Amino acid sequence: MAKTMSGSIVHPLTVAYFSMEVGINPAMPTYSGGLGMLAGDTLRAAADLGVHMVGVTLLHRKGYFRQHLDERGNQTENPAVWEPEKLLEPFTQRVSVTIEGRAVQLRAWSYVVHGVTGHTVPVIFLDTALPENSPWDQALTDHLYGGDDHYRLCQEVVLGLGGVAMLRALGYQKVQTYHMNEGHSALLTLALLEERHEKKGLHDVVKADGEAVRHRCVFTTHTPVPAGFDKFPLSLAKQVLGDEAVNALQTVGAFHDSVLNMTNLALSLSRYVNGVSMRHEEVSRGMFPNYPINSVTNGVHAVFWTSLPFQRLYDNHFPEWRNDNLYLRYAISCSPDTIMEAHKESKKDLLTEVERRAGVRLSPEVMTIGFARRATAYKRADLLFTDVERLKSIAREAGPLQIIYAGKAHPRDEGGKALIRRIFQAAEALRDTIPLVYMEEYDMALGKYLCSGVDLWLNTPLKPDEASGTSGMKAALNGVPSLSVLDGWWVEGHIEGVTGWSIGDSSEPESDPSREVASLYDKLGKVIVPMFYKQPDAYATVMRSAIAINGSFYNAQRMVFQYMKNAYIHAH
Ligand SMILES: *Cc1c(COP(=O)(O)O)cnc(C)c1O
Repeated sequence: MAKTMSGSIVHPLTVAYFSMEVGINPAMPTYSGGLGMLAGDTLRAAADLGVHMVGVTLLHRKGYFRQHLDERGNQTENPAVWEPEKLLEPFTQRVSVTIEGRAVQLRAWSYVVHGVTGHTVPVIFLDTALPENSPWDQALTDHLYGGDDHYRLCQEVVLGLGGVAMLRALGYQKVQTYHMNEGHSALLTLALLEERHEKKGLHDVVKADGEAVRHRCVFTTHTPVPAGFDKFPLSLAKQVLGDEAVNALQTVGAFHDSVLNMTNLALSLSRYVNGVSMRHEEVSRGMFPNYPINSVTNGVHAVFWTSLPFQRLYDNHFPEWRNDNLYLRYAISCSPDTIMEAHKESKKDLLTEVERRAGVRLSPEVMTIGFARRATAYKRADLLFTDVERLKSIAREAGPLQIIYAGKAHPRDEGGKALIRRIFQAAEALRDTIPLVYMEEYDMALGKYLCSGVDLWLNTPLKPDEASGTSGMKAALNGVPSLSVLDGWWVEGHIEGVTGWSIGDSSEPESDPSREVASLYDKLGKVIVPMFYKQPDAYATVMRSAIAINGSFYNAQRMVFQYMKNAYIHAH
């Protein structure tokens, strides 16, 4: 073991976890959605489990963006400026990366994650805002997923090549595994190739070099949609990285049809590759038949995502759960009454927050449906409103409903923005029967309230586009059952009428929208809403099973444990 310059001990089994976004603190807008949340939960769970991990990401001084919605649901964006100086500790080390032939200087900031037993995991935030750099280079670590392809590729140079350089400067000489959380950080493999050639240059990189780098890397892919892969034209790659690097990348198989494909690069240079659910593994195997694809289903950090009322309930019944999330299985010993009591409090906290943020007062007695996720086409946020009259009749006949929505559309995703406007139109059409609130600024803090405070968590993605999904796991930890299309984690987490309900009963990987719509209304009107109002004990029993069966498994402790067993330690 060696001491790093920052004072921590570098264990020979250190894992460097690279992610373009990390959601680690609600006051730091350094994430856009599920990928960043997952990174944060992974780092938190690694700290809990005593894993020797270091996180690497970009500082994102202007965050993703702050969302404003006008009365018609038109989204406008503002920078989410924050003050890193107040939340992070600066390192004194400086390194540089070459972008378009010029040297760009980097500094880094540290955020330390403390685990339950005191073990810590540092997270390194890379920053180019140094006076030595041109204004354009200084802005490279400003915007998460902002700018054009050119800006994006330069950011990926900072993350991959800059990240490895900074690790070395901080004393991390012996990193056993480089874990790429999505392809954005795949250029770290280029840094490892360069190191093998001891700075002599990349001109004589051969396939065997790629093989040596392969032994050191792990790749997690997060999307079954090829359009979601990070790709850059050859000319842009040459401009930013230079001819030698591009030749080296061609040698190791990073190009596909003259396009630099970060997924291909990561696939080619990783000893272990995984999807993020059982179904996603199957879908990924179909997409990448030439690579051995495994899976580790995602999980969420149990303590972080559990509301205070449920934390108190678990502390009373099985206090060991904080240290060992498997004890959540013992929730089976909680009476339905105690579950309902804790949920009532969580619901009250949510409704107070909705009133504070949106000025809308909802009723604690009315069944509340929640839907919050990135506003993008495949998530089909408007599926619930396919037949507004049918929905109204369910509320009139089976029992009253109210609905809470949230979600941001990427600034350039016009389809996503149109979806938000359609939800506003549905709210108008439902006005006299079903109150519907669309909350601005879906973030980690609001996510916590929503997933724990609603009575039913709705998920309607177009199959097979949902790799995993994690918000339903947060809901399960708080006893909130899901009503979801059978895609992503729900294929394995769903037991009908026990942990929640499915939309459609087909195990086919592709959606049949009209059958899904019919099933959605049937389940709501004939099964779920009647049970909620007429058999509250039965409903509380489903809530309890969501915790005992799904909460005990779909947590980040189990996920990190599986990465250790399958990806970090044994896969060589
Ligand atoms: C959990 C979470 C997500 C991801 O949820 P999905 O179900 O995977 O879409 C996105 N954004 C926020 C703020 C979250 O808390």
